[in-house]
Amino acid sequence: MTLQFSVLASGSSGNAFYVGTDNVKLLVDAGLSGKKIKEQLAQINVCPTDLDGILVTHEHSDHIKGLGVMARRYQLPVYANEKTRKAIDTSSVGEIITDQKFSFDMESVKTLADLDVESFGVSHDAADPMFYIFHYEGKKVAMLTDTGYVSERMKKKIENADAILFEANHDVGMLQMGRYPWNVKRRILSDLGHVSNEDAAIAMMDVIGDQTKSIYLGHLSQDNNMIDIARMSVEQYLKQHDIGVGDKLHIKDTSPTKATPIDYI
Ligand SMILES: [Zn+2]
Ligand SMILES: [Zn+2]
Repeated sequence: MTLQFSVLASGSSGNAFYVGTDNVKLLVDAGLSGKKIKEQLAQINVCPTDLDGILVTHEHSDHIKGLGVMARRYQLPVYANEKTRKAIDTSSVGEIITDQKFSFDMESVKTLADLDVESFGVSHDAADPMFYIFHYEGKKVAMLTDTGYVSERMKKKIENADAILFEANHDVGMLQMGRYPWNVKRRILSDLGHVSNEDAAIAMMDVIGDQTKSIYLGHLSQDNNMIDIARMSVEQYLKQHDIGVGDKLHIKDTSPTKATPIDYI
């Protein structure tokens, strides 16, 4: 009886996350093509026909690119809050029939089979962006990417989770020196953009608890970050503040193209 999950893909090019128990299997976001999502799921031996639904965080294309295809092909229920559902309807993912669309309100808990799923709001330039926490027999897995900053409220939600997918989008120096136009840089750095490596590490200080075993660094920018830089920034900061990384707490990589091995909590 375990809670299982894998970061199927994470990064500006597309995001998808798998979480399941013996009784329910869910996809969170479908930001890759239907074909790619199927391939990523195959890497962890899950067949799309085993899925029971798709939870959506927000309507940016790196989170919903394959949503229409997955929903139609495998007749999967799609859960999202009202504003996000409306935004999806006007996006290019194609029609998802009304019978397959379900509401998942912001700041609410929905029980799907034996899994309690909690939603919470983030600060990002989308219609009504929210992320999810999964509770199962006292265990907790949390996701937090696509937010301009990590508020005290968000920290409270995800604190002491057994595993957390945590945004480490960019290295501020690389972003500032990089080739992006200034308005894009300003958007990324704003309160409605993405969390930097440095800010992720600072926020983690308040979030890591006795129960926390794994932090997955997610949503890395292809242009403004590198996995070694993200990992080093975070590990160094935590070590400087007496949070040991290695024996009990592991900082783990994610990839835009390779699913992380299933983590059993
Ligand atoms: Zn994103
Ligand atoms: Zn986004």
